[in-house]
Amino acid sequence: MNAIPVLSQRLQSTPIYELQDTFCENHFFMKREDCIPFSFGGNKARKARFFYQDIMKKQPDTIVTYGSGSSNHCRIIANMASAMGLACHIISPSDHYEATMNSKMTELFGATIETCPVEQVSHTIDAYLEQLINIGQKPYFIQGGGHGNLGTAAYVEAYQEILEYEQQSGIQFDSIFFASGTGTTQAGLVCGQLLARRNDDQKIIGISIARTAERGYEVIADSIRGYFEEYESNLSIDYESRLIFEDAYRKGGYGKFDEEVTKTIDSVLCKEGIPMDTTYVGKAYSGMKAYIQDHAIHGQNILFIHTGGTPLFFDAIGK
Ligand SMILES: *Cc1c(COP(=O)(O)O)cnc(C)c1O
Repeated sequence: MNAIPVLSQRLQSTPIYELQDTFCENHFFMKREDCIPFSFGGNKARKARFFYQDIMKKQPDTIVTYGSGSSNHCRIIANMASAMGLACHIISPSDHYEATMNSKMTELFGATIETCPVEQVSHTIDAYLEQLINIGQKPYFIQGGGHGNLGTAAYVEAYQEILEYEQQSGIQFDSIFFASGTGTTQAGLVCGQLLARRNDDQKIIGISIARTAERGYEVIADSIRGYFEEYESNLSIDYESRLIFEDAYRKGGYGKFDEEVTKTIDSVLCKEGIPMDTTYVGKAYSGMKAYIQDHAIHGQNILFIHTGGTPLFFDAIGK
């Protein structure tokens, strides 16, 4: 198994820059997770660094994971597997399966992709893992989107970088916005904030790109509890009041967007030189602006986390 220096060396904090945008008289800053230097970066690359350490310890021979044809997670895990010299098998829901820049790269990395109806995903994964074990192989399974305690831990680390930035610059962020999917990124940020025991009222606001609030809250609360159980033992702090998972800007669900989103993407690219995709980052940035307007937020320092997905930008351009 090959070591990958860019994943084993300490990650330098991703940059935070102020933007030109002054919507509703707020100051906007952006943390560029898309600049993480592996496989086009993004939050799945930060999570993958934690899976990488665990894989180096456990020495499996195959990595198994799942995700859709547009999954950033699958691209990064397949890239990591090819760089480590490991086999990679991906299970993908066949419903609305579409070839994207991500799925083309996933194939280029030599991963095998098995599609099945969405309701059979869980069974197909179990069957595949069992089959590998039966022939004496050692598979390593990663949940879709890098969900789980290692993924959460990755965003506790990102929150520490945000704290360091605040301490060094003297700028305090009143609100932090980002695209929330499985909620693992959000759970990590909330855990990081709880561990920092701040005494201000900083809000962490996940803009749902797919799930309804009910389902979203449940999964994020589980992730927070799971993380504290494994790493920090007793969670006596009130985390429920800190959970803001906003589902008003889902635009009908995963992958769906409207003209508001594409206009926002064009404007941010032209004015700030920053690419965003329609499924996650552009949708969340546009949702953040609607939230600011709907909640009459002004005069704040606002941090937006660019969670990556750069290859999806190229799928959407000109469409
Ligand atoms: C997966 C993904 C998200 C959502 O992250 P979660 O941790 O699943 O909430 C946001 N942005 C991009 C670009 C992603 O690929």
